[in-house]
Amino acid sequence: MSAVIVVAIDAPLRRLFDYRAPPQVAPETLLPGVRVWVPFGRRRVVGVLVETRASSELPDAKLKTAIAVVDETPVFDAPLLELLRWAADYYRHPPGEVISAALPAPLRTGDSMLETTERWMLSAAARTGSLPALPTRANRLRELADFLQARESADAAGLATLSSRWRDHVRELEKRGWVTRLRVADPPPPRLAVRAGPGPSPTPEQLAAIQAISAARGRHVSFLLHGVTGSGKTEVYLRAIEEVVARDEQALVLVPEIALTPQLVARFAERFDAPLAVLHSSLTDQERLRAWRAARSGSAPVVIGTRSAIFAPLARPGLIVVDEEHDSSYKQQEGFRYSARDLALARAQRLAIPVLLGSATPSLESLERARAGKAVLLSLPNRTAGASQPQLHIIDLRRHAATQGIATPTMLSIKRHLDAGGQVLLYLNRRGYAPSLFCPACGWVAPCPRCDARLTVHQRERRLHCHHCGTEQRAPEICPTCGEAVKPVGQGTERIEETLAQFFPDVPLARIDRDAVRRRGALEAALDRVTSGEVRLLVGTQMLTKGHHFPDVSLVVVLNADQGLFGTDFRASERLAQTIVQVAGRAGRAERPGEVLIQTEYPEHPLLAQLVSGGYDAFASAALKERELARWPPFARIAVLRAEAARREAPIEFLDRAREIAAALAGPGVEILGPASAPMERRAGHYRAQLLLHAASHGPLQRLFSRWLPAVEELPEARRVRWSLDVDPLELF
Ligand SMILES: [Zn+2]
Ligand SMILES: [Zn+2]
Repeated sequence: MSAVIVVAIDAPLRRLFDYRAPPQVAPETLLPGVRVWVPFGRRRVVGVLVETRASSELPDAKLKTAIAVVDETPVFDAPLLELLRWAADYYRHPPGEVISAALPAPLRTGDSMLETTERWMLSAAARTGSLPALPTRANRLRELADFLQARESADAAGLATLSSRWRDHVRELEKRGWVTRLRVADPPPPRLAVRAGPGPSPTPEQLAAIQAISAARGRHVSFLLHGVTGSGKTEVYLRAIEEVVARDEQALVLVPEIALTPQLVARFAERFDAPLAVLHSSLTDQERLRAWRAARSGSAPVVIGTRSAIFAPLARPGLIVVDEEHDSSYKQQEGFRYSARDLALARAQRLAIPVLLGSATPSLESLERARAGKAVLLSLPNRTAGASQPQLHIIDLRRHAATQGIATPTMLSIKRHLDAGGQVLLYLNRRGYAPSLFCPACGWVAPCPRCDARLTVHQRERRLHCHHCGTEQRAPEICPTCGEAVKPVGQGTERIEETLAQFFPDVPLARIDRDAVRRRGALEAALDRVTSGEVRLLVGTQMLTKGHHFPDVSLVVVLNADQGLFGTDFRASERLAQTIVQVAGRAGRAERPGEVLIQTEYPEHPLLAQLVSGGYDAFASAALKERELARWPPFARIAVLRAEAARREAPIEFLDRAREIAAALAGPGVEILGPASAPMERRAGHYRAQLLLHAASHGPLQRLFSRWLPAVEELPEARRVRWSLDVDPLELF
């Protein structure tokens, strides 16, 4: 009976693969987490060994033999490998894809996980004199061979002392069999004594939070740091991390988007006199590999990164921090649909270390965990430096005349704040000039040819863009159906910028949205102009809400709150409340008292009323009560099976069949809702629909998935659609 190694391979299959151990390798010497070369179909691929077993269910004749082992020590330690396997199982994603995605790209093709240096040595044949002698006139070659003869091996720096053309000479010697090239692992980098720079003295609330986190060292405690904007959450992170680093442990810090938060990374870099390992999506493969190695070797005491950094290896983990834990970018929305926030909790629990989730607007999930005693709530209810909370006011759009989306009282407030020397920020979550192009004569509206959506007008480029599928076309001057002149209807940030420039021609103005800051460095430049006080009027999208510090903003205007009030998604109101509170938090951060105006056509809407009178806490407790009554998360668990296809009927046909199977297999307590078409049914030429699964807890769903998904995979209808399962979805479509 031959022992078997079980290997995870980067393939879209929900299973692992059995192999015989490579020749001359005793399987019991192989540690889980090492990489192995294996034959796979007609290719040779690098897989990760996840376990060894006494036998395989495969017949002996079918069992292939692995080719070679790549690593001496595992690339993933046991707790991380276990987390990856658990996550693959929980989110029902192919384990090989999950494990492979956690590796920097060069490691997926067998590169060394350690920093290595190239070295050269004289070959055994050359040393024993069994090679033909070098030509008498080849002085340089003989000189190099003599040099290597005198030592065991030499690196590039050593050989460069011989000649500037040493690489040519080495190549020539390699060709003749005289020289062998080696890759030697570098010694681990020296451990630095990390010094933390001075910071401001903590407030009593900050101190209490820091002490609570400090007292939890070495065990698993989950903390929710709920601090109003401007209350100094980052200072709590920094102090907690200082202690971790002082104990010679590492801290892993997750942030929503590094490109949008250059100030935060700069603050970390300033505070710690040590290399930060920074992991985010715009790194090159080599940069990512370097950061990954620094995290794994422990030479970086602080690892800071976006969503996928939750899978960064850590030599001596001490603390995990998730900043802005409510942010939706922690959930991957395609492929492996995991939540980095939820995995941070799972990882910290496995490592028996504390985890700190922070936000000014915690997710209802996290608030409920704190209420249920699963997380310790740490509150920072006050702003630092004596700044007061901004006052929220509603502007009723039905009662006031508006110019291009800006009501008269709003316009007067803007003028008043500008006259008093303040900065004004206007928020609108809609980029472009206008959300549609309309013909007043016949009612034609420019449609996206590939989506059930309208095209957005981008006036400066005279083009129409679809914000759902990326389609672009020239904007027509006249209506294609009746030939009359067409006009843009509604407002986007570009149009608001134009209107403000007309009303306040002498006031320096900046727009911050994805179109305006596309160039590298453009966002930093714009933020600098705001921070320095040069820009006085600022208009932008969601990008503005991401933790930027604008000390002189005294007025914030939410131009259109109504987009989120009647969303079809059960999280729409939570997201709107978070956005309003986050954007409002940009006002009055220093000594200036802030004012916030919220424009709406529904001033009596209960969500707005709660926010204005009681703030985020009042909203959150009301929203949690509603969720509990409706049995939505966090009081239930849901998953959606989504399908899309170019043929309109295909998704529903597939989901109908999937539903029949689920209904037959589901135990009590699992409800199956749908299938239903998406509210915007067609996107990028594909029709979309979904089936919703609902249960009081996760167990019944997981039990159903185990039997249901294999059957769904086998359906003939499954081959006619693109389908995916989303466990704990953030959005329903
Ligand atoms: Zn027309
Ligand atoms: Zn489109």
